[in-house]
Amino acid sequence: MGTIEKFDSYVMGTYGRYPLVMEKGENCRCVDENGNYYVDFGSGIGTNSLGYCDSDWVEAVCNQAKTLQHTSNYYYTKVQADFAAKLCSATGYAKVFFGNSGAEANECAIKLARKYSFDKYGENRNKIITLQNSFHGRTMCTLSATGQDVFHNYFFPFMQGFDYAQANNIDDLEAKLDGSVCAVMIEFVQGEGGVNVLDEDFVRDLFELCKSKDILVIADEVQTGIGRTGKLLAAQNYNVRADITTLAKGLAGGLPIGACLVKDKCAEVLTKGMHGSTFGGNPVCCAGGNAVLNKVCDANFLDEVVRKGRYIRARLEALDEVVSVSGMGLMIGVTLKTKNAADVAKLCLENGLLVLTAKEKLRFLPPLTISQHEIEAGMEILEKLLSN
Ligand SMILES: *Cc1c(COP(=O)(O)O)cnc(C)c1O
Repeated sequence: MGTIEKFDSYVMGTYGRYPLVMEKGENCRCVDENGNYYVDFGSGIGTNSLGYCDSDWVEAVCNQAKTLQHTSNYYYTKVQADFAAKLCSATGYAKVFFGNSGAEANECAIKLARKYSFDKYGENRNKIITLQNSFHGRTMCTLSATGQDVFHNYFFPFMQGFDYAQANNIDDLEAKLDGSVCAVMIEFVQGEGGVNVLDEDFVRDLFELCKSKDILVIADEVQTGIGRTGKLLAAQNYNVRADITTLAKGLAGGLPIGACLVKDKCAEVLTKGMHGSTFGGNPVCCAGGNAVLNKVCDANFLDEVVRKGRYIRARLEALDEVVSVSGMGLMIGVTLKTKNAADVAKLCLENGLLVLTAKEKLRFLPPLTISQHEIEAGMEILEKLLSN
């Protein structure tokens, strides 16, 4: 039995997979089981922030796996302590909770926001406003938080206590911020929703409104965080700091980890026994995270992300088939004039380039370490396909 046949016989068919069996990779290039090479503009889904098999990352991860692969959270590990300290000091947050995924990081943020409000204001102030077209995860709670009707099917009953405001419409948001609201959760750039960037004015007004009502702002930076937009956090592009920030995708360079970071005023809200995760803060993942932060926290590294993003954007904007380019840094959405994004993504794969889609757009989340040479190789394939 071939791999694809075996896979489909035994793994649930929850994904529309491309017929590609990936075998290995190096930085922005990967190789399938037949020896075909691809330039990868997706990096997992923005998870392989340092590309495939960065040598420092591999060394850190392997050393940790050989030393102590896991222990329960009833004990301490130096590697989790080091990672937490590094992450908090780099992002300016007071404390962190580690889970294993973006959805879990958001679950933690939601529980924490409700408990914060319960402690100060009692019951019935527990609603969380998210934005239309948002994406916050696949658990029951984060599906409920997700502001897209297509995700609110089949699995009834969904959780109560969520409502959805229009992005970039401060009047709509303000009208929804009544006495029942404890938090507003946003993505600065909606990823799955179509690489939609929030307006600066909207973000500034949202933060001011929430502050005046002691409503917590939760920034879901699962996709935008860890250098993706050219800053360590996308919030820095807006000069704001959310009360709570969640991270996951690129945080450990391709290993599963999620982080919920909080300011001082939220640092003692969750206490002993209130939240947990068996694998959360796993030593191997933390070792990978340390290797990521060692590179991504550097100002020159982040400047390069900005430069490479600008370069790709300019190349795209010069194409007839491209209507517009959205995004920030190396998080890029492309609206096409006549072609269908899913069809183009399939064609790209057949021609040696891996890209993602988001709604009607092509979406690129290349490794932050992508080289100029790899950019050229990928853009040449794309330009050829888009000019046919
Ligand atoms: C991917 C994503 C999630 C969910 O992350 P998982 O690790 O798949 O649970 C949540 N929020 C945003 C913004 C995401 O892009």
